[in-house]
Amino acid sequence: MTLSEKDKAFIWHPFTQIKPDNAPICIEKAQGATLFATGGKTYIDGISSWWVNLHGHAHPYIAAAIAQQAMCLEQVIFAGFTHAPAIDLAGLLLEHLPTPFSKVFYSDNGSTAVEVGLKMALQYWHNQGITHKIKIISFENAYHGDTFGAMSVSGRSAFNAPFNPLLFDVFALPIPTDANFQAIKAQFQSLLEEDAVAAFLFEPLVQGAAGMQMYKAAHLDELVGMAQKKQVICIADEVMTGFGRTGKLFAMDYLTHKPDIICLSKGITGGFMPLGVTVCAQKIYETFISDDVRKTFFHGHSYTANPLACAAAKASFELLLREDCQKAIERIGNQHARFAATIKNHPFVKGVRQTGTILAIELNTAESSYFNTIKDTFYAFCLEKGVLLRPLGNVIYIMPPYCLTDNELAFIYEVIFQFIFNCK
Ligand code: PMP
Repeated sequence: MTLSEKDKAFIWHPFTQIKPDNAPICIEKAQGATLFATGGKTYIDGISSWWVNLHGHAHPYIAAAIAQQAMCLEQVIFAGFTHAPAIDLAGLLLEHLPTPFSKVFYSDNGSTAVEVGLKMALQYWHNQGITHKIKIISFENAYHGDTFGAMSVSGRSAFNAPFNPLLFDVFALPIPTDANFQAIKAQFQSLLEEDAVAAFLFEPLVQGAAGMQMYKAAHLDELVGMAQKKQVICIADEVMTGFGRTGKLFAMDYLTHKPDIICLSKGITGGFMPLGVTVCAQKIYETFISDDVRKTFFHGHSYTANPLACAAAKASFELLLREDCQKAIERIGNQHARFAATIKNHPFVKGVRQTGTILAIELNTAESSYFNTIKDTFYAFCLEKGVLLRPLGNVIYIMPPYCLTDNELAFIYEVIFQFIFNCK
């Protein structure tokens, strides 16, 4: 059997309709932003392999950190035991997070980072004997992951329709715009007045899977301020926006009111290892300190704080802090802005949005949805040209590794331009 035949025989791929003609592309190796497929074709990875890769593939600095760690300690139970990679990474993260953040809780993906955030916020109230604060405010069309809690706080859509009867209710508000902000604020305030709200959860500045929907930091800042006045726990899901994506280290760096909990994953290891992190403020942690065993946070995963993942994350963060990487983030943002200006008035472009290194182009199609088939046409067009871009319905976006060169970026822009021009 060929690899492709074996893949079809043995594997069920995520977010992929099972059809006989849906053969995945087999990648043999990758370097920088380039993926090398069996048979010799190459692809520029314009979406950082589902938003995880920050510094390019097989980066020697991160690879070496993992290799060195693997020769020393690959895994140890994290209840009752600890290790330097987890401690070092926690210290490094806290150094770059604002003061209210004081404790790092490890898990192993974005959905679990969010689950942990939600559970911490809910148990924060429970541990104080306050049992009526059990409601969550979130945004419509949000995407926070695929586990049950994360699905519940996400927008209701075809992604979670089969499970809908089992999901818990949340108060879902539209993301703020200049036009709706007064109305949103009024709605938000009246929900806060009900006194049942435990937490406000949001993807700061950019709703990823919703189609890279962007909204103003000033609006979010005001909502966080209002929520915190009512002691509601604010949870920033920075699974996608963290680690430089929005132009700053974290999207919440654009806010003056800092959230109480931040959820991180994806870019945290530079795309090398699965890792999730939930960081909370000291006031939350303190409600779990007790002689009463029932106030324990009964949550953990077998691979919690895996030392290889922690070593990768530390190395990736060190690369991110280097001046050349910060300059690359700025350079990509500037190039995006220039390209956006050249296409924004094209009749097939409904709108162009940009936050830092994330550029989204909404195509002017009759139907705006994830299931718009233009995504398949565009995806195939790009692959044929040697570029990996995976649109969200009629929204094309670029979210590249920071190592992407100007030439590679220009090539991606050219491919997008050709597609838009052909669809005219
Ligand atoms: N939160 C956000 C904002 C995300 O974009 C995602 C994944 N796209 C998740 C949570 C879930 O992360 P994971 O796929 O690692 O479970």
